[in-house]
Amino acid sequence: MSEKRIGLYGGTFSPPHMGHVRAAEAFLSRFRLDMLYIMPAYVPPHKAISNGDIPAHRLNMARIAFRSLTDGGHAVVSELEISRQGKSYTADTLAELYGLCGIKGRHGIYMLTGDDMFTTLDTWRRPEEIFDRAHIVYVSRGGSEELCLLKRAEYEARFGAVVDRLDIEPLPVSSTELRRAIAEGRDTAGLLLPEVLEYIEKEGLYREG
Ligand code: ATP
Repeated sequence: MSEKRIGLYGGTFSPPHMGHVRAAEAFLSRFRLDMLYIMPAYVPPHKAISNGDIPAHRLNMARIAFRSLTDGGHAVVSELEISRQGKSYTADTLAELYGLCGIKGRHGIYMLTGDDMFTTLDTWRRPEEIFDRAHIVYVSRGGSEELCLLKRAEYEARFGAVVDRLDIEPLPVSSTELRRAIAEGRDTAGLLLPEVLEYIEKEGLYREG
């Protein structure tokens, strides 16, 4: 029997928005994943986390935002990185998922990133392990496709990387913009799921931007 098709989609998700949800939905269906692990990070190593960040809130918001996927039984919002605590390194997460899912061989996990993260992958902790275990799938969020193609060729030559592009219409929205919009009381319709906004308001999150 062939191995199951496992996916990984990591991020800060502070808050999770429609750009994340649309990308994850397309990733799940186009790559015919049996199980997608949506993975909120504990402390992202590549960016300073805002004061007062509470991982449990990000986890709860991710559970709300990605419900359309998890209800289908082919996706789960995982606590793996948040429970591990400390800095969340993707190389560690891939190794853990390999064990958990009994994956053998190279490029055994489809890993989704936005184009911005894709172009920085070689600066992450232990990139050779990431490229060894992950089959990288990047999705445009409106960045330079030319730069992505250059980085793709570099990763293939340097690490023997396997890379694909998820072709969807970009939704140029970021959590940073949304935190600002919420703090300023601006409309977030179409960019944030109403249920996520409700949670944010109930818990009083992002009042300071
Ligand atoms: P921030 O503004 O706080 O940096 P973000 O919007 O980039 O947050 P993250 O949680 O850091 O969100 O992103 C998780 C993953 O989702 C990353 O790989 C990122 O590139 C990707 N991503 C973020 N926004 C989009 C979007 N609008 N479309 C496609 N992918 C996205």
